[in-house]
Parts: sequence; structure tokens; C-alpha cells
Amino acid sequence: MAPRRKDSLLNGIDMQHAGKPTGNGHNPEPPINPLYQRACFITAAARVDRMPPDQGREVAFAGRSNAGKSSAINTICHRRQLARTSKTPGRTQQVVFFALDETRRLVDLPGYGYAKVSEAVKLQWQRLMASYLQQRRSLAGLVVVMDIRHPLTVFDRRMLEWGRRAELELLLLLTKSDKLKRGAARAERERVAKAVTADGRRIRVELFSAQTRSGTEPVHGVLDRWLGVGG
Ligand code: GDP
Repeated sequence: MAPRRKDSLLNGIDMQHAGKPTGNGHNPEPPINPLYQRACFITAAARVDRMPPDQGREVAFAGRSNAGKSSAINTICHRRQLARTSKTPGRTQQVVFFALDETRRLVDLPGYGYAKVSEAVKLQWQRLMASYLQQRRSLAGLVVVMDIRHPLTVFDRRMLEWGRRAELELLLLLTKSDKLKRGAARAERERVAKAVTADGRRIRVELFSAQTRSGTEPVHGVLDRWLGVGG
């Protein structure tokens, strides 16, 4: 199994810059997609060689701690407690795998951005992320979840850069969009989309809210494509 781009994924990430959270909301009820609703926990692994067999397809979710990643995964799967919404900084340094069916998985990557964790934990996190993103052949795409009020932190940018270098499909999810008025949320989406355009290549940016569930449908559309659902 030839690893993807061994070179510089480990370069210079530090976990010094922490972030902020919170919640509230509004409207539409998307149709239930049974594939995502069937998601079930497989395993959590802190090492690439402890992960499930690298077969089929999976989509990974990354995000700064408290960005709303767990809530987004739960909303996408129409489940309350699938991914645990964590209150404890750096609680887990594990990659968590959820099966959708026999060949498709969703993957919850450990949150980044806590200032208080030790150097050893930071380094462990970097190594785990870098080796996962580089080596995982079944990884079809990376969703980077960002709080719409604090997008594109240094971590988010690095995660995107790692994703680009690993030649992954990318989706930026601006979550907690219920925290902004509709016009302001749209403007923020445009601003972020422009900011992440590199070499004329646009990264798809979607508004999302776990509170109102808005944005679930377009996310399912992207995940369906990456996971090869329905043709
Ligand atoms: P994680 O650390 O990235 O997994 O973040 P969580 O999913 O645990 O969410 C962090 C906090 O933000 C929790 O208090 C959630 O209730 C809140 N939150 C998450 N998503 C939303 C959202 O879409 N809207 C609002 N208003 N709050 C949210």
C-alpha cells in the first residue's frame, strides 16, 4: 500500500490557538436518509494500524474542538448521541469509526485547538492525523467543520492544506449558522469560499445548523457522491 505524500503533512502545526463555542436557532425539516440513520459505532483507534480494514469508502470529519463537529455528525445521521458532544477539552485523541453499511463509513477525527494539552499530546495528534490523511486509501473526502462565527483558524487552514496535499475531496461546513441572520450567513459563506480558493480551485462551502438541521440535504448530496451512494 503506497502511502500518499509522506513529505510535509507534519510541518509546523501547533495547538496553541484555542477557540470558542455556543448554540440557538430556526427552520426546515429535511427528509430522512436511511443510509446515514443506520450509522453505528465500529471502533475508536489511536493508531493507524488499529483502524478497521482500509477497504470500501469513508468520509472524515475534522474540526476545532467545540466547533460543532459531533453535533453535525449526529444531525447528518439523524441521531442524538452517535458522536459524543464533548465538554471535556482533549478528552479523546482517537479516530472514531461509524459504519453506514458494509463498505461505507463516517469517521470522527479528534478535535484540535485546545491550548491546555501537553506537547506530547499535540505531537501524538499531529502524527495520527498526518498518517491517517496520508495513508488511508479508502478516505474519499474530508469535511472540515467550522463555527461560522470563527471560521478559518490557523488549524482549519492547516487541515485544509493537509487535505489538499493528500489530494482529498474537501467540504467546508460553516455550522451554527443559526447564530447569524440569513443574509449575514450567506455573506460569510461567500467570504470564506473566496478565501479558500487556491489556484482557481474552489472548495465547496455549505451553511449548516445542527439546531435547525438546515444544510443537511446538501451535505447528504456531497457525502452520497463521495461514498458512491446511488450510482
Ligand atoms: P465538537 O467539540 O466540535 O464536537 O462540538 P459539539 O458538537 O460538542 O458542540 C459544541 C457546542 O456547540 C455545544 O454546546 C453544542 O450544543 C453547540 N452547537 C453545536 N452545533 C450547533 C448549532 O448548529 N447551532 C447552535 N446554536 N449550537 C450548536
